[in-house]
Order: sequence, then structure tokens, then C-alpha cells
Amino acid sequence: MALFIEVQVAPELANDEANAKQLEEVCPVDVFSSKSGGALEIVDANVDECTLCELCLAVGKPGQVKIVKLYEDGGGALERTA
Ligand code: SF4
Repeated sequence: MALFIEVQVAPELANDEANAKQLEEVCPVDVFSSKSGGALEIVDANVDECTLCELCLAVGKPGQVKIVKLYEDGGGALERTA
């Protein structure tokens, strides 16, 4: 279980094979793994390695990927708005 970061991906994005592959490719610390057939897996062991690079936020539609900072009071979150 990650202590500092929570990654949220909308189900419609996680179940889309092309988008799942794209998430797998963009993340520099391998937070995402795509399986054949399209399902996306969040690799829990790597989630706290997130560098907040925001590359994953560009995948899919605005708001479909969120990076929540669990270490901030109020849980600050990164997401694309447009
Ligand atoms: S912000 Fe960057 S490091 Fe963090 S999950 Fe997204 S792509 Fe990976």
C-alpha cells in the first residue's frame, strides 16, 4: 500500500487498451502496467516513486487520471482540467 501517493484512473480509461498502453509508456517509474486485452493495473509497489511529472495526466480526457498527494493536508490532487 502506497503511503504518499494515490493514483486514480477512471474505469473507462483503464479498460481502454490503447490508453492503458499509453499510460504504461509515459510513466518514468512504471506505476502503470497494461495487460493484453486492455485492462490497466496500478503497480502498487511503484506508486510512491511517482515524481509528479504529470505525463500521465495527458492521457485520456481531462480528469480521468488523478494523482492524489496523501502527504498534504486536504489531499492535494493533480489532474488535467482542459
Ligand atoms: S505523475 Fe509521472 S511519475 Fe507520477 S504516475 Fe504520472 S507519469 Fe508516473
